[in-house]
Amino acid sequence: MPDRSFLDWPFLDDSHRALADRLEAWCLHEIAPLGHDETDIDGQCRHLLRLLGDGGWLRYCIPASHGGVHPQLDVRSLSLIRETLARHHGLADFVFAMQGLGSGVVSLFGSAAQKAAILPGVAAGTRCAAFALTELESGSDVAAMTTSATRTAGGWIINGAKTYISNGGIADHYLLFARTGEAPGAKGISAFLVPADTPGLVIAERIRVIAPHPLATLHFKDMALPADSLIGEAGRGFAQAMASLDIFRTTVGAAALGFARRALDEATARATGRRLQGRLLADNAVIQAMLADMALAVDTAALLIYRAGWLRDVTGARNSREAAMAKLHATDSAQEVIDKAVQIHGGLGVVHGHIVESLYREVRALRIYEGASEVQRVVIARQHLAQAAAATPTQPAAA
Ligand SMILES: Cc1cc2nc3c(=O)[nH]c(=O)nc-3n(C[C@H](O)[C@H](O)[C@H](O)COP(=O)(O)OP(=O)(O)OC[C@H]3O[C@@H](n4cnc5c(N)ncnc54)[C@H](O)[C@@H]3O)c2cc1C
Repeated sequence: MPDRSFLDWPFLDDSHRALADRLEAWCLHEIAPLGHDETDIDGQCRHLLRLLGDGGWLRYCIPASHGGVHPQLDVRSLSLIRETLARHHGLADFVFAMQGLGSGVVSLFGSAAQKAAILPGVAAGTRCAAFALTELESGSDVAAMTTSATRTAGGWIINGAKTYISNGGIADHYLLFARTGEAPGAKGISAFLVPADTPGLVIAERIRVIAPHPLATLHFKDMALPADSLIGEAGRGFAQAMASLDIFRTTVGAAALGFARRALDEATARATGRRLQGRLLADNAVIQAMLADMALAVDTAALLIYRAGWLRDVTGARNSREAAMAKLHATDSAQEVIDKAVQIHGGLGVVHGHIVESLYREVRALRIYEGASEVQRVVIARQHLAQAAAATPTQPAAA
């Protein structure tokens, strides 16, 4: 049974506690029985999308103006949902997360027509969403992207390629970022809403990864888009992507937290059930120290995640530093927690298909996407140093 004491923390309110209870009951009924089969991942994603839509959970991914739950996306609700889904089923968490990330820029900056076109379907689970930012050559250096959008009399022509695009191949639309050239670097990028069946958009390659989920490289060859596919202002795409990631980055930490909680539960069950040399593993001080470290890592991750969410939801403050801390610590420490769970399971822990073995693979990519751990350190250090410089009294000029 997972620890639920965190639900009483002051970062959360009664609506979050009720959400956690309802979702836990729903997961036990609808998601846990699905098991962790790794065949027909596309089909499973489509099935999970409809289940999550019918359950009403995807409404948390969009604003209340278009059928969502909160006037603005509530980071704590998104985090609670992701950690709960991840604890039960990694693919269910993935499907949920992509509906938010693949519509966030439209929720935040889209026109009324763009919102009406996609948000109701995103919430119902009848429309599969994707976010296409990364390119092979630019990667973490997003501002160096080269996919181009050239203005024409009727709209835009797109040429270039994106890679590692989640839901690539099964999505109904892509939020696409391309260089429109208003300025060099980050200030010359714009966001576009692109239906998946737009001529000129080709799924060039499906990519197989350590924990299977739909992932693809997309090519754009003279892809024509109408003028109204531009999201918000031209040249604001990089800032829009970062504003969206400020919301969702915390929730990547929450997914890692869900994986870590599951690993701790599994390790505890194993340690309290396995007898060696006439005593339980859990009676061994070395194993107790491992369990203590795991419990500490889970609680510190949860504190950082719900602090980052609270800061944004309640105070409205920009929380880039706190979101970076939450993602960095939760994903790095989840890796360590899961590794210890595998160790406590012994040989069973590396048997393909065992829950801790799948958690071991599932958690890895979270330290890479939506800003690698090293990039989060850069964000934290930059803000720390700026604060330190601002707090340093200026020295009076020498006489
Ligand atoms: C499973 C998965 C799903 C993904 N889904 C999506 C998606 O839906 N949409 C999308 O647009 N992208 C997606 N991505 C892409 C992801 O965001 C990129 O992989 C990530 O930004 C890193 O880019 P890269 O792979 O090119 O690595 P690189 O940029 O080459 O970085 C390699 C390593 O260099 C180090 N590094 C990078 N920058 C710095 C720095 N400033 N300081 C110090 N060290 C640094 C880090 O250790 C990093 O891991 C996904 C990736 C994966 C693995």
